[in-house]
Amino acid sequence: MMPHKYICPGCRTESRAYSTQARAQRHGQRHRDDHHGGDHPFGETVQSVPYEIDGAQVRVLAAVLVVLVLALLIQAF
Ligand SMILES: [Zn+2]
Repeated sequence: MMPHKYICPGCRTESRAYSTQARAQRHGQRHRDDHHGGDHPFGETVQSVPYEIDGAQVRVLAAVLVVLVLALLIQAF
């Protein structure tokens, strides 16, 4: 499942990536309520975006791989 972002051309802003389309749409609803009195800005969209791995996720993945390799090494002896 692709992450999604809410984009408001009226404010020239986009949300962070949400794991589901529904969560990005909820962000859009909050944005409309907070900044546009609940109205729909012209051209607003929820778009799917490529999955991005951030630095924290890379560190967790590296730690998991190290533990797996160590477990395999311990098992081999
Ligand atoms: Zn806006």
